[in-house]
Amino acid sequence: MLSVIPIPAFDDNYIWLLRQDSTKDVAVVDPGDAKPVIHYLERENLTLSTILITHHHHDHTGGLPELTKRYSPRVIGPHNPQIKEIQERVGDGDDFRVLGRRFEVMAVPGHTLDHIAFLGPGTPSLLFCGDTLFCGGCGRLFEGTPEQMQASLSRLAALSEDTLVFAAHEYTLANLRFAQAAEPDNKIRDRLMKECQRARDLDRPTLPSTIGRERQINPFLRVDNQTLRSAASAHGSTDSSESTFATLRAWKDNF
Ligand code: ZN
Ligand code: FE
Repeated sequence: MLSVIPIPAFDDNYIWLLRQDSTKDVAVVDPGDAKPVIHYLERENLTLSTILITHHHHDHTGGLPELTKRYSPRVIGPHNPQIKEIQERVGDGDDFRVLGRRFEVMAVPGHTLDHIAFLGPGTPSLLFCGDTLFCGGCGRLFEGTPEQMQASLSRLAALSEDTLVFAAHEYTLANLRFAQAAEPDNKIRDRLMKECQRARDLDRPTLPSTIGRERQINPFLRVDNQTLRSAASAHGSTDSSESTFATLRAWKDNF
């Protein structure tokens, strides 16, 4: 059986680690820091065979020099020469196998232009989406346009509802506080917020989320919702989903 384990890094990053019962080889996604990964591998007597990278930011790639030197893993990531350690550069529609499971690549520009996500189809499907989709929110627009981000999020939102969403940051509570301001009348979100508050009090991750849940509570996937449209109008948007999305994103930046 394949399990996915969160390795906390820095203040709020998760390095997701994939391991199979039957093998000592594991994979990690976005190792921003080598230390917590090495610590886990040594404790569990495992070896790193694959690294997946979603985008070039340092909190997702900072562990590459040390981990590649130490374990010589296969490194799969986007077509961005800035990330020197990548050996297999992949883009939209490509697929590959890791630990006996097939993964598909989706281009999801917006947070950065090189951003890709990894989808492992199955029951349930596994989605590693880096800083594109978070529980209750989405990544900031550092390089892309609101239109690009919205198109990327729409593709993720169209995945099957039981898809597990392994986002790269523990931003859930802050995201849900913004969601509450933007869409006050969402009872499913209120319930989730209580659950997540309890999880954080116990120092547990609020992730993974699911695509079905995000469709119900994430304002950035709900730009056709009337309450959200009105709230965005009060912050200057015109009555289109594009304008609602751009306005919500700008509002959240200063929230
Ligand atoms: Zn980032
Ligand atoms: Fe990040």
